[in-house]
Amino acid sequence: MSNKLDITPLQQWTGIKNQPFTIAGPCSAEGEEQVMQTVQDIVKYAPGKVHAIRAGIWKPRTRPNQFEGVGGIGLPWIKKASVAVGLPVMIEIASAAHVEAALKAGIDILWIGARTTVSPFNVQEIADSLKGVDIPVLIKNPVNPDLELWVGAIERIHAAGIKKLAAVHRGFSSYEKTIYRNPPMWEIPIELRRRYPEVPIIVDPSHIGGSRNMISMLAQQGMDMGFDGLMIETHINPDKAWTDAKQQVTPQRLGEILDAIIVRQPKAEMDEQHTLHDLRAKVDRIDNYIIELLCERMGISEEIGEFKKQNQLAIHQAERWSLIVKRALEQGKNGGLTEEFILKFYQQVHNESIRHQSKVMEGEEGVI
Ligand code: PEP
Ligand code: MN
Repeated sequence: MSNKLDITPLQQWTGIKNQPFTIAGPCSAEGEEQVMQTVQDIVKYAPGKVHAIRAGIWKPRTRPNQFEGVGGIGLPWIKKASVAVGLPVMIEIASAAHVEAALKAGIDILWIGARTTVSPFNVQEIADSLKGVDIPVLIKNPVNPDLELWVGAIERIHAAGIKKLAAVHRGFSSYEKTIYRNPPMWEIPIELRRRYPEVPIIVDPSHIGGSRNMISMLAQQGMDMGFDGLMIETHINPDKAWTDAKQQVTPQRLGEILDAIIVRQPKAEMDEQHTLHDLRAKVDRIDNYIIELLCERMGISEEIGEFKKQNQLAIHQAERWSLIVKRALEQGKNGGLTEEFILKFYQQVHNESIRHQSKVMEGEEGVI
């Protein structure tokens, strides 16, 4: 069992009740105008729905020779924009020097990025630099799916005396290609919640999805899990963004996404409706996995298609197919699924798989 952490409730330090604590702003600050315009448009298109502004000025990049953020020069730009709209502003920090510069510039909230959470040395350095400072700190999950590293970072920051803290779920990297940039692996933040129910969890659908058309769905899923907030990358001109262009949305789109979100009521008002809601959230999560797995399965079919093409093999291998169906029938029967359902379902999966293989082999749709 983990010891309960002495944490200031999110409501208390944000003043936000009955709606997600929502953070929006560009992935990176690129210039004074870009920051100011983005922030002003966020307030214009999502009035009252965004409670803090984000902008990265030091960007951790996986590969060298890419834009690594404007650096300290951007601090006054983002402070000025946040004052102009009357919202607190947050940046990513990765070292004691970053913390010092942020505090000097009057930045209101700090966050530790996914590539920093993985390093206990860096997290400890940050924790030491925060001793005696009263500032909220958000801790993103490590890039790799390791709950212990995430918990460890939270514990280190908490031990430095930071009581206003929250976790940010931004998905986890995986070697497999999936429909996500960083698969959500919801079971990990759910386990964090089980162990530390007092730690607020903010969902970052931008870095999970990696593409702007997935943000709405992922944000709603995060809310359906009962999480507490959202961090959504927003840019005045997303296609021209210097970092994470594909996943940023315009302030106008942000407004539409936030308007469409259905938020769960607080637990105190739990009734039958909520039980139904919880069950539906579980079904949605499973459906989501099914689609994700089917997409992955078809990707593998294409690789098989490539192999068959090179080795002059026919697409349809009857014995292999009988084996697959036999196994599925047995497994389905044990789980209470009818033979009719399994056969129909597999027929469809098989058809789709053949279409994918044919595309690779002949460059055209397969005919069954
Ligand atoms: C970001 O928020 O822009 C960022 C770099 O995120 P992460 O640390 O989650 O990759
Ligand atoms: Mn980003």
